[in-house]
Amino acid sequence: MAAASDSNSDAMKFETRSVHAGVDIDTTFNSCTTPIYPASTFYWEDLETNKGFDYTRSGNPTRRALEDNIASLEGGLSCRATSTGMSAVLTVLHLFQPGDHIITGHDIYGGTYRLFAEIFTKMGYQFSFVDMSDTANVQAAITEATKAIWIETPSNPLMRLVDIAAVVEIAKAKGLTTIADNTFLTPYLQRPFEMGVDLVVHSTTKYLNGHSDVVGGCVVSKSEEHAEQVDFLVNSLGLGNSPFDAWLVLRGLKTLGPRMEAHQKGAMAVAKFLESHPQVDRVYFPGLESHPQHELAKTQQKGFGAMLSFELKGDKTDTERVCTKTRLFLLAESLGGVQSLICSPDCMTHLSMEPEARRKAGITTQTIRLSVGIEHPDDLIADLKQALES
Ligand SMILES: *Cc1c(COP(=O)(O)O)cnc(C)c1O
Repeated sequence: MAAASDSNSDAMKFETRSVHAGVDIDTTFNSCTTPIYPASTFYWEDLETNKGFDYTRSGNPTRRALEDNIASLEGGLSCRATSTGMSAVLTVLHLFQPGDHIITGHDIYGGTYRLFAEIFTKMGYQFSFVDMSDTANVQAAITEATKAIWIETPSNPLMRLVDIAAVVEIAKAKGLTTIADNTFLTPYLQRPFEMGVDLVVHSTTKYLNGHSDVVGGCVVSKSEEHAEQVDFLVNSLGLGNSPFDAWLVLRGLKTLGPRMEAHQKGAMAVAKFLESHPQVDRVYFPGLESHPQHELAKTQQKGFGAMLSFELKGDKTDTERVCTKTRLFLLAESLGGVQSLICSPDCMTHLSMEPEARRKAGITTQTIRLSVGIEHPDDLIADLKQALES
């Protein structure tokens, strides 16, 4: 059967690999989709021979199909799918040790911030949280102990960009490892490995799965050395994604390209509408010319994505009014699903940061974040309009 090897070819286009890479593996019944293998253990033929899997914590065929798919899409050598996005972050932190210093953004994902600032700091790791939209701050934060730079771009929720190539250049000069959390843009819209990044992490909970019905994560490696270490860590720490969840993410991935196109189209329309609305103070969306890093977004990204935030005029009661009056935009945390979501980072997603850290990151009581789904842009705009004017 030629299909499996041909369709996994890196020469194929992104959309084709989304549908096929890793998927065509069932030679038992020639199933056209990947079977779910819930087995915890796999039998051996003799003391030397098994079929490549022995125990699901260390590896599982359904999970492997997902891992091969993501590795292909991200352009990495190998991927390990984890139980959540946070367990992907946790895995990467174990590549380092107490005493090591890691530089990251002051406006990174709230859960990542909490893991760094509260848990790993206690264990003796050192972190600098700097405004990475200015690369000079990254350079200035480097110490003798610095081992890595953690990049998240665009940042959450204010959509500040990090110049990946510039940060990689700084890192390479000092022999530092770079890690990019590519959750917000996905490999369809941003290619960290092509800019020299060493490791990519995702919360597959978001766009990669895309349907708000699973939690998962992954770590993608570019070098053999990192691939081996990550494989060892995910197995040793017991962080692998369940076969059922892996199967769901794999199904979601098949439509990643078309979904991202629909997401972006809606986000651009919504951003333009909000920018012209009298109750909106400012809109944070890299696709708008008013975004201070619009030019960087145009060169670094293949699109502007579908996450955006805005500052509402008024006070917290206005924020509450708008957030509770939308009908299509559900008031919920998380992002990246086909349904649109609205939230207040100050009260919801970023509550794990100290109020002071939230203010330093530019989050106010008036900041509202949207995850624009794939509904028709006209309906989304009408929904926001009635909520703003309610
Ligand atoms: C959601 C998210 C995470 C954490 O992922 P979970 O699947 O919720 O554990 C990490 N980074 C970013 C950018 C995220 O949006």
